[in-house]
Amino acid sequence: MISRFDDRSRTILACVAVALVTLIPYFAEAAFVEVKDIRFWSSEQYTRVVIDLTGTVEFQKNRLSNPDRLYFDLKDSVISKEITKNIPIGDGILRGVRAAQFNKTTVRVVLDLEEISDLQTFVFDGPPRLVVDVFGKLADRRSSVQLVKRRIVIDPGHGGHDPGAVGPRGVFEKDIVLDIALKVKKILMEDPLNEVFLTREKDVFLSLEERTAFANRKNADLFVSIHANASPRREARGIETYLLNWTDDEEAMKVAARENAISLKKMRAMHREMDIVDVIKGDLIRENKRDESIKLANYIQRALVGHLCDNRRTVTDLGVKQALFYVLFGAKMPSVLVEVSFISNSEEERLLSDEGYRKEIAHGIARGMMTYLTSSPAVQKVVEYRERSPLYR
Ligand SMILES: [Zn+2]
Repeated sequence: MISRFDDRSRTILACVAVALVTLIPYFAEAAFVEVKDIRFWSSEQYTRVVIDLTGTVEFQKNRLSNPDRLYFDLKDSVISKEITKNIPIGDGILRGVRAAQFNKTTVRVVLDLEEISDLQTFVFDGPPRLVVDVFGKLADRRSSVQLVKRRIVIDPGHGGHDPGAVGPRGVFEKDIVLDIALKVKKILMEDPLNEVFLTREKDVFLSLEERTAFANRKNADLFVSIHANASPRREARGIETYLLNWTDDEEAMKVAARENAISLKKMRAMHREMDIVDVIKGDLIRENKRDESIKLANYIQRALVGHLCDNRRTVTDLGVKQALFYVLFGAKMPSVLVEVSFISNSEEERLLSDEGYRKEIAHGIARGMMTYLTSSPAVQKVVEYRERSPLYR
């Protein structure tokens, strides 16, 4: 009897032990973040590297010389088997990017540097990713010929599988904002001094980090992202223009959370994280970008509201606001995000579906951009050029 009982206990113990042995690695791995993919966008002046993850990571970064390199140690992480571990770039800024399992719990990502002038890092969520911006030595050396042309990047929000906000009658934000952006481009192109680029000209998906990367690569003078607003309060209506900055305004946070495709809870957590705020402060202080963005936002908001009023529209002017929009992170130039009306409001959804209203919106935005561009110091050069240019004689 005793011996049989012992046998059974031993069997049970053995089972428990086997279960534990199988479960321990399961739990250990479950806690690990996987480094899934590494993507990059490059030009001769600027490169953005994005490291895609399955969760948020703590990381350490360090720069070493001989050869010049920057590495990130991602804690409690494993490298995916599918990842390309060696990515040659060779754009004059980065030689390439390498990733490897450094030890059991750490993945090391190394950026082999060529010639760089500046770099910054952000952490994005939903899906989690680490974004590294690297600027080359050439970045600020623009010839006077380039300076006289104004380079404008317009970013129609969403696209492809991301419809953006959807109106009560089923109108998609992505379609409305693309049409407005194309109209703004057409208006601005009437001035031969304007070079206008759209981040997308079709119904395609672009990640938020791709959009700023595009503007930085184009070395744009300004970046305007166009969106339509939405609110669970169906009566909410009006026009507002945003710039990137810390905010404690709950409504502004809600708008940013929706546009960043993260929850309001995550948005609040983001505001609590001081390091992110520091990154933004550094980003904003650089080259007076904050003051210039405020100026740009005000010109656009005023021109847009003013133009609609001139056309006898009833407009709710919600003014210029600030919040943490991913799409504006790391933009080298003055950059704003315009919410052109509320697609969630049935009356404004009807207006947005109307070609004439969209034309008025486009004219308003274009006018605001031109007021900004012709009031900035660079414009002096443009005026001189204009006087010399046969186009203006
Ligand atoms: Zn949007």
